[in-house]
Amino acid sequence: MKEEKIFKAESKQLLNLMINSIYSNQEIFLREIISNASDAIDKYRYLLATDEGKDLKDRDYQIRIKIDKENRRIIVIDNGIGMNRQDLEKNLGTIAKSGSKEFLEKLSKNKDKKDDLSIIGQFGVGFYSAFIVGKKVEVKTRREKDKCYLFSSDGIEKYTIEDIDDDSFVGTEVSIYLRDDEEEVKYSSYLEEYRIKSLVKKYSDYIRYPIHMNITSTENDKDENGKEIEGKTHEVVTDTILNSMIPLWKKPKSEVTDEKLNEFYKTHFDDYEDPLISLYVKTEGVISYSAILYIPAHAPYNLYSDSYEKGLALYSKGIFVQEKCKELVSDYLKFTKGLVDSDDFPLNISREILQNSPLLKKISSNIENKLIEKLKDLQKNDYDKYLKFVDIYIDNIKYGIYSSYGAKKDLLADLLVYKTNKDEKGITLKKYVEDKKEDQKYIYYATGKTPEEILLKPEMEKYKRDDIQVLLLTSNIDEFCLMMMQNYDKLEFKNISSENKDEITEEEKKRLQTLTDENKRFLDEIKNSLKDKIDEVSFSNKLVDSPLCITSKEGLSLNMEKVLENQPKMEEDSHSPKAIKVLEINPDHKLFKAIKDLDDESLKKYAPILYEEALLLEGYEVEDKKSFVENLNNLLINKK
Ligand code: ADP
Repeated sequence: MKEEKIFKAESKQLLNLMINSIYSNQEIFLREIISNASDAIDKYRYLLATDEGKDLKDRDYQIRIKIDKENRRIIVIDNGIGMNRQDLEKNLGTIAKSGSKEFLEKLSKNKDKKDDLSIIGQFGVGFYSAFIVGKKVEVKTRREKDKCYLFSSDGIEKYTIEDIDDDSFVGTEVSIYLRDDEEEVKYSSYLEEYRIKSLVKKYSDYIRYPIHMNITSTENDKDENGKEIEGKTHEVVTDTILNSMIPLWKKPKSEVTDEKLNEFYKTHFDDYEDPLISLYVKTEGVISYSAILYIPAHAPYNLYSDSYEKGLALYSKGIFVQEKCKELVSDYLKFTKGLVDSDDFPLNISREILQNSPLLKKISSNIENKLIEKLKDLQKNDYDKYLKFVDIYIDNIKYGIYSSYGAKKDLLADLLVYKTNKDEKGITLKKYVEDKKEDQKYIYYATGKTPEEILLKPEMEKYKRDDIQVLLLTSNIDEFCLMMMQNYDKLEFKNISSENKDEITEEEKKRLQTLTDENKRFLDEIKNSLKDKIDEVSFSNKLVDSPLCITSKEGLSLNMEKVLENQPKMEEDSHSPKAIKVLEINPDHKLFKAIKDLDDESLKKYAPILYEEALLLEGYEVEDKKSFVENLNNLLINKK
């Protein structure tokens, strides 16, 4: 029965985009097809170890590449698991399964070629890459005890699946019919043995199954005595294994260079760019395992969405067990990619047992420590590169501290880097403490949307004047993370927008008290007029040039209040917690002097403007824009 179906994605558009964006790197198609073949063998071997596969037999696992010059095709054959009709439809009939729409959107938005390539990998359009070089692709495939099926497509709109009579094999045969040569691209180069041989060496050397190909060489003819005859040759075809087959992580440590690790990453994790960090771990003793770990140079496109699946590939004695074993990485390190191989796992271990395995937990915490160690090394030895990590991932580290209620503080605090009013690149907390003023009792910080915006805050003025370093926090998680840490090197963190009673000199305290007594009516009137917005009105010692600011009392800061407000609510009518807000007035400013003796009526009118102005200075939105404008206009009109 032959069925014709339509691809479940905008395949034509996708194909065009792919051809254009991988143009210069089209040779990766072979890597993709070989990698699928190797996965298919892994899957078969895995099946063998389960109940379902108890009747199956071990095979002489191999991948074979054939070149058929006459029909301009390359054939990649494996004796792996094979596919039935449903598999074919599900796996090959849906292009870019993991998010074709998003993929297309990203691709068409992205003008940066390099990014395009990494995106392609991230969406798993592996098989589809065959259409970059192939005008037609056929997949002949058969599962054990099933029929043989032939999938055929030009990659543009439709594909057909038919069952055919062939029970001579089990596995999959992918035939790529090469496109006709063009001015700029000679597709026929893939029909040359040396080209295929070098592509396999380059991209697929570590594939754990032998990749066979017949290699033709010329030899001199020999006479009856076995002596070579000059000028007379004949062709000899030798079945050759093209790859070295040893998994990288099974090689001696000295052979596992950064370069090899990076190449392995690009091959196995479908990325075009070298990773930011690669790490090879081999431990023996109480727990023995090998691991290859990577931190990608760009965050996976869906890292912060529900569709993202964290995890490392799990192998047992070199045999693939699971694609994404999520127990191997902590949530806050979810961007880590890689694999773990341990001889101590039984192969047919069930997921439930795996989840609770103490060995897995030990490996996971071991990996966590190694990664953090590596990051600390990077911080020490290549600070600029470390800042790249900070740029992309540091919020995850903060989340690690926050979500452990501070338990991971000792491990992670030294990874944190913050921009400050004195250092726009960013410094560690250690450096902050080294550079602080001798009598400084706190690690000061301020919050806002951007460093620039924070620097404009009224409360910053004093710190700028006194040359005190202030951490500039711009991420939602920042304050929550500091709250969990409480202190660093015995120094408490202090929001410059919070109360600072203990930092005021006795003399200053007295002055403020006198001012408060003298202006009681003024303060009360402003406070009354703003009673649903503000909890206190007081005189400030924080301000230099600005007339006023909004601060909060110990506990929740204004910034935290805003962050919590924007969190999805558990219940419809639940209220998020509020900060205790103080409107602080600069007693030395002209504005105060101009309005302090106004009558109660006028103060009532001015109060909301003062409040909104303070919000603006702090970098927040004016809450009620309409009434703000009305109040302001009234003021202007009355002045006239
Ligand atoms: P990915 O490999 O990232 O899942 P692909 O588009 O390369 O995406 O392949 C889609 C699916 O098709 C694979 O996940 C696998 O289930 C199936 N597949 C591809 N090639 C083979 C093969 N040689 N043998 C068995 N199944 C295959």
